[in-house]
Amino acid sequence: MKGFDTFLMVDWSGGNDRGAAPKKDAIWAGVHRKAIRQDPIYLRNRQVAEAWLTSFFAAEIAAGRRVLAGFDFPFGYPKGFARALTGSDNPLMLWDWLEREVEDTPKSNNRFDLAGAINCKFGGGQGPFWFNGLARDIEGLPRRKDEIVAHFPERRACEILAPGSFTCWQMGGAGAVGGQIFTGLAVLARLRRQFDVAVWPFEPLHVAISFVEIWPSLTVTEPPPDMIKDAWQVSEVARQLSLLSEDRLRAMLDVQAPEEGWIFGLGFEQELRGEITPPLRNDCFALPPGIHWTPVEDALALLRERLHPVVSTEICDIRHALGRVAAADVTAPRAHPPLPNTAVDGFGVAGHFGEGAHRIPLAQGRAAAGDAPKQLPQGKAIKVLTGAALPSGVETVILQEDVAVADGAIHFQGPIRSGANTRAAGEDVIAGGVIVHRGRVITASDVALLSATGCSALPTYRSLKVGVLSTGDELVQPGTSAAPGQVYDANRPMLMALISRFGHVPVDLGHVGDDREALQQRFDDGARSVDVMLSSGGASTGEEDHVSAVLETAGAMALWRIAVKPGRPLALGMWRSVPIFGLPGNPVAAMVCTLIFARPALSLLSGAGWSEPHGFELPAAFSKRKKAGRREYLRARVRDGKVEVFASEGSGRISGLSWAEGLVELPEPAMEIGPGDVVRFLPYSSFGL
Ligand code: AMP
Ligand code: MG
Repeated sequence: MKGFDTFLMVDWSGGNDRGAAPKKDAIWAGVHRKAIRQDPIYLRNRQVAEAWLTSFFAAEIAAGRRVLAGFDFPFGYPKGFARALTGSDNPLMLWDWLEREVEDTPKSNNRFDLAGAINCKFGGGQGPFWFNGLARDIEGLPRRKDEIVAHFPERRACEILAPGSFTCWQMGGAGAVGGQIFTGLAVLARLRRQFDVAVWPFEPLHVAISFVEIWPSLTVTEPPPDMIKDAWQVSEVARQLSLLSEDRLRAMLDVQAPEEGWIFGLGFEQELRGEITPPLRNDCFALPPGIHWTPVEDALALLRERLHPVVSTEICDIRHALGRVAAADVTAPRAHPPLPNTAVDGFGVAGHFGEGAHRIPLAQGRAAAGDAPKQLPQGKAIKVLTGAALPSGVETVILQEDVAVADGAIHFQGPIRSGANTRAAGEDVIAGGVIVHRGRVITASDVALLSATGCSALPTYRSLKVGVLSTGDELVQPGTSAAPGQVYDANRPMLMALISRFGHVPVDLGHVGDDREALQQRFDDGARSVDVMLSSGGASTGEEDHVSAVLETAGAMALWRIAVKPGRPLALGMWRSVPIFGLPGNPVAAMVCTLIFARPALSLLSGAGWSEPHGFELPAAFSKRKKAGRREYLRARVRDGKVEVFASEGSGRISGLSWAEGLVELPEPAMEIGPGDVVRFLPYSSFGL
């Protein structure tokens, strides 16, 4: 995708301005061209706006400029509506349908009648549209929301994630957007026929003009005191978009929402507002000058500060959400429980009861889970079953086991406090409350919480693709025969497995010999297909250390000499904007460096935030004397509550990695450890293994 030259953002309006001075709720357009702000443009009504847009696009095309044009109304309706109305899920068919049906002049338009007519197509009226702005009644168009019968979801997936947005079914009233969709899409459908337009996210954007749906309130708040809010907002959104790098814009446009459409920038609010820094800089691994051995803490702090998510977002159905990373705060569409209900099987009554015996006549029928709330007749009790919405008038539920039923009444002993055995609406989760925070790795319990509050999909980061590459002439692949002097490649299978356990997608980039051209070629291939690469071997400064040499040619490499054992230098670099972790070839060092350095870095890149392993302070079952100045990780396991370490510290001993169930971390100062001394044990499970 080639970049955009012009950013045009339009705030549509349902009103018609016939007066002299600019009115605040007319249509406003904000333009930034090549990052230069133009004055907001005042468009008195929709007819004026359509004419202006037509000449604007014609002029941009004539000048050879690419335009990203944003409009502040939904480009699609909740799932199922387009097909019900037009027979196709393609929302652009719906645009054309509206264009044929909508009549709109500066004096009047048919939006309410049209909404009523659409409602009549669906089971004789009563929704999905509601709100009649006219004095006369319109067949099929309820005046109030509570009169509609739900035919379709109330909101699109993106609206559920955008608290404060309006539903497209509401045809009028303050802030409503329903009427604007009708009149707006009719105009856009005409413009689309007239110019080479692509509509996001339904079509690929490689033509001159691209339309995106925006919602300025997502990223723009209050205007300065002397500015009209709409004028300020469109201008600000145009500015925010014009500041994005091509990569970031591409990442934000990378959304799958073929039927309902999507609000541009959802999930990227902070970045659009400039509150978080855009992607990795080429010098992100640079070390402060003059440092010979970087302490582990400093190395980690640098990674933590310089890295951030590099993956775009997509909508993920909760059935596939396990292990995925939430890309935005998710709010509950509905309270849990949605209505007050009973926690037990029993009898619903009004109020509370003092000491002594009580008798209350029993009403007919019962309330079971799933029943709409009934009315409790005055002075009576009603049978209720666990989970049933409390009939109105019921304040208290008496446990079935505490009641005798005889002669059409219940008999029980007091005292019983008011509210006993009931659950209040929203006592668990309130509607609109945040249930999953951005960066959360979705668990089975989260899936339950999302489901219970009516959330069937959420924005997630795309899974991080991690390329794995082994280097060295001596390596051969398991399953083939090895000549004397050759070594089986252990790192690549190990790294692939570690990455899967971390929750990312491992991509096998194969093995390359000690050959710079071949290595460059492989880095190029990798940079096209993955988000980050891990290589092993050749990371130091010897004559056969080609990873560091090749990364050096890109001018974006830093050799990290970290004060840690095991671990020779790490070669950290950027290759065509993709970060590469050049790990040591020695499998023990490769694994320890991956767990300690690469894992938290990958977690940040994936959107899940920094993550540190949880350690446990436990007594040692070993003796060891250690020098000052570097941190050491020993292969360890716990037996009888004590930490054992592997007999040999030799860093070639892969069997020790397998023997161990975690690492013991010995801090930088010199120390002598004896049996019973407290040490910090990091189980493999705390690294997600
Ligand atoms: P290097 O970092 O390339 O100098 O390699 C250090 C040691 O690790 C050498 O003994 C290599 O043979 C060994 N080594 C390098 N890569 C691998 C691998 N993928 N699997 C097993 N051993 C390896
Ligand atoms: Mg080597």
